[in-house]
Amino acid sequence: MPAGTPIPGDEGVLIVGAGIAGLCAALAAAPRRVTMLCPDEPGRSSSSWLAQGGIAAPIGPTDSVDIHVGDTLDVAGHAADPIAAERVIGGASEAIDFLVAAGVPFDRDGAAWSLHLEAGHRRPRVAHALGDRSGAAIVAALWEQVRVAPHVEVRCGWRAVTLATDTRGAVVGVHALDAGGRTVLVRAAETVLATGGAGRLFRYTTNGPWAAGDGIAMALAAGARTAALEFVQFHPTALRVDADPLPLLTEALRGAGARLVTARGDFVMAGHPLGDLAPRDVVARAVWDCAQSGADVLLDARSVFASAAGDAFPGALALTQAYGIDPVHELLPVTAAAHYHMGGVVVDDAGHATVDGLWACGEVAYTGLHGANRLASNSLLEAVVCGRAAGAAILRRAPLVRGPAREVEIDSGTDVEAAPAWQALRLRLWRAMGPVRDGATLATAIAETRATLVSIPAGQRVLRQRHELALAMLQAAVNREESRGAHFRRDFPTRDESRDGPRAVFPRAVA
Ligand SMILES: Cc1cc2nc3c(=O)[nH]c(=O)nc-3n(C[C@H](O)[C@H](O)[C@H](O)COP(=O)(O)OP(=O)(O)OC[C@H]3O[C@@H](n4cnc5c(N)ncnc54)[C@H](O)[C@@H]3O)c2cc1C
Repeated sequence: MPAGTPIPGDEGVLIVGAGIAGLCAALAAAPRRVTMLCPDEPGRSSSSWLAQGGIAAPIGPTDSVDIHVGDTLDVAGHAADPIAAERVIGGASEAIDFLVAAGVPFDRDGAAWSLHLEAGHRRPRVAHALGDRSGAAIVAALWEQVRVAPHVEVRCGWRAVTLATDTRGAVVGVHALDAGGRTVLVRAAETVLATGGAGRLFRYTTNGPWAAGDGIAMALAAGARTAALEFVQFHPTALRVDADPLPLLTEALRGAGARLVTARGDFVMAGHPLGDLAPRDVVARAVWDCAQSGADVLLDARSVFASAAGDAFPGALALTQAYGIDPVHELLPVTAAAHYHMGGVVVDDAGHATVDGLWACGEVAYTGLHGANRLASNSLLEAVVCGRAAGAAILRRAPLVRGPAREVEIDSGTDVEAAPAWQALRLRLWRAMGPVRDGATLATAIAETRATLVSIPAGQRVLRQRHELALAMLQAAVNREESRGAHFRRDFPTRDESRDGPRAVFPRAVA
């Protein structure tokens, strides 16, 4: 059926997604009228809600913006943009003040901050709330602010399908499915993608159905520039159980002494000088290699849970018990899993994309902060700082009325999660674009994805767009004939140093 009738008179700000980035953008855009779309209960269907460790900020007594920027660049595979890193991390202190004022109950050590040390950080700087329920605590506080904000109207149960564009190619809102499954044109002067990541494109992932890359896919379809699509961070310790998404076992467990072993009792990370605390991508590859050779990988966290150290992991304890595992006496089966997408919609410092009327913030955006590999806990920081920056920049823009939207065909009846082609795509990406890649497997996956794409009817927009995004990701991975950050090619195992610098991923200048 053709896309639905417009909501009358709606020329305000449209925010697609109610994770931390979208909530922050909505608050910062006040008093401009904001419509926010979220497919489910606000904030709950989001990676933000699941975030455990916390938010990185250089607020400890021995820390500084410079040290935090240095750590971010070190992890990023010689590909992060130092200017972006200084901007985002330079805004961390103000971001934490904002969250405190919003009511986030950060954990304290008496009068001081309680700050965790995580892999890749030279200083303890991860602020957390409610132990390992940091994301939920932040979302709940922000949602309480948005709920009572007179300028925001939240449309729950609404899902954006594709961006609406005018004859010049400017974005004029989205074509969406409303709570009743009807197609609706939601018009807007400024449209903000805050749709999160793309981990769901992989069969094994910590990301829920909300993180299927729909924002990047919509932006690609509208002609916006994207970058770093090949850079996907895999977490080494997702709990290997019959669940989708897979529950995450935080890295901090290994920090507290848990060790990765095979079923035969060999230490998986024995050969690395940092052992189980080696960088996340290195550990993820080791876990993947073991699994490929048929060995079960297990996390031995018995010593942690049997001691007082276990008190710091109430969430991990609860989730293992929910799957009938007793972590005090049993080893925990684990697998690597797609976790975070460094790539996204290219934006400038304000969050504006390369297409008129389109903005992006949070995991869906490419700011240059993460380069080819994300420093743990920098993503919540980016979501807060860049979400607020986008809202504030939109507020400074003169309101305008956009031109009419071009018609599109949308088939409203498709359940994408149940579609065999979608599940096949997820398995294909896992095999071809997992922690270890090679040109031949990637080329086969590209050919298979192209063949599937021609058989998907034009009206099945979401399924088509996801295949087009997958193709762009596979193509980026096959084109990058080197190993850098989270992108590891078995057939090109070393970094091409001549490509170092932010331009290794994408030039800073936005056209
Ligand atoms: C298990 C887990 C633990 C993590 N732990 C940490 C951590 O400790 N620290 C850290 O910094 N990072 C962590 N991360 C990463 C971090 O949570 C995310 O990068 C961050 O929350 C992204 O925020 P966001 O607002 O951009 O996206 P999300 O929080 O994912 O929000 C996206 C929103 O968009 C909506 N949406 C998606 N598609 C559509 C559509 N088509 N139409 C309408 N709405 C749509 C979703 O429903 C959701 O409301 C973790 C991630 C996971 C999965």
